[in-house]
Amino acid sequence: MLTLSLPAKPGPLKVLCLGAHSDDIEIGCGGTILRLLSDRKEVEIFWVVFGASEQREQEARNSAAFFLNSAKKKEVTIKNFRDGFFPFEGTKIKEYFEELKTTTPDIIFTHQRTDAHQDHRLLAELTWNTFRNHLILGYEIPKYDGDLGRPNFFVPLERDVYEQKVEYLMQAFATQRSKPWFDRDTFLGLMRLRGMECVSPSAHAEAFYCRKVVL
Ligand SMILES: [Zn+2]
Repeated sequence: MLTLSLPAKPGPLKVLCLGAHSDDIEIGCGGTILRLLSDRKEVEIFWVVFGASEQREQEARNSAAFFLNSAKKKEVTIKNFRDGFFPFEGTKIKEYFEELKTTTPDIIFTHQRTDAHQDHRLLAELTWNTFRNHLILGYEIPKYDGDLGRPNFFVPLERDVYEQKVEYLMQAFATQRSKPWFDRDTFLGLMRLRGMECVSPSAHAEAFYCRKVVL
């Protein structure tokens, strides 16, 4: 498999991470963000969580601090759109996406379009509505609904990176640990399967849905 790498560019690589809830970005692309930050000197991260209540806002901030620890430039925004009701708050969320255009990102990480959660799906749709000439990677979130599909874009992760991701998740999200699915096995298991699918040297990877790539 011939691997592709992100091109060099003048100035920092600008990365926009969008997540509906406080742990989505980390679960979906936390390892890839850690890898990007370790692979490249100049990375600027815009990190936006759309819905977090008070306690979960603090968790989201703590977690972003873990994952973005080595980022020289970062901007973390936590909004409080109502969990589960995003489609009914669509106007306000759409207006906020207009503001996000000013971040002029090179890469956008967002939910994938066939995600079964309505909040996730709305963000995926609005990402595509808003950013019309951008590299967009849709990440996956394992869930009760069973909506995992066939991603087509893989990021192999070294052992220290995927273990760090899981460690940060377990440390940062105390309120989530009571949920039966929120454990090391879920996160490691999914990365192990995706690693198998892309023949990752470490056997682990994160996977994404990429609808358009321009060579
Ligand atoms: Zn979510």
